[in-house]
Amino acid sequence: MSGCVFCRIVSGDAPATKIFEDDILLAFLDIRPITRGHTLVIPKNHASDLDDLNPALGAQLFAGGHRLAKAMRRSDFPADGANLLINDGKAAFQTVHHVHLHVIPRQTGDTFTFAKGFVLRRPHDMEHTAAAIRTGLDRLAAEERETHA
Ligand code: 5GP
Ligand code: ZN
Repeated sequence: MSGCVFCRIVSGDAPATKIFEDDILLAFLDIRPITRGHTLVIPKNHASDLDDLNPALGAQLFAGGHRLAKAMRRSDFPADGANLLINDGKAAFQTVHHVHLHVIPRQTGDTFTFAKGFVLRRPHDMEHTAAAIRTGLDRLAAEERETHA
């Protein structure tokens, strides 16, 4: 959709630090992360909010976020957990009206860092951070291959 910043990222007309993509989904780092590795997962086709989103696509979106949360635990900045969150609609503080699932990695005892990040929203070293999460995805895929071997 023209005028939608996330559609422009999908089409390559706007830059983003990408983590993974397939035919359906794209995951990229949030430009104003709450914690290092804060990622957004979006459907490539525009849907403005949950009311506008095909439920099967919603399930795929969650599956993408689930996989990322697992990858973050296996990354070079290993997370102990993650917050997965959708702000659905203006009333819920949605500011970009293209559905997106936030995946926010968390560390045990990070309450202060999290609160500070929530206020400051400063980017970390984006390329390094993205590479670490991609490594986590590779490790997850290797584990899955071992399990099914
Ligand atoms: P919302 O409040 O709509 O759930 O969050 C939108 C998120 O998108 C925010 O966390 C914001 O930092 C992020 N964001 C907004 N514009 C851009 C952009 O152009 N690129 C990236 N990577 N993230 C963006
Ligand atoms: Zn869009």
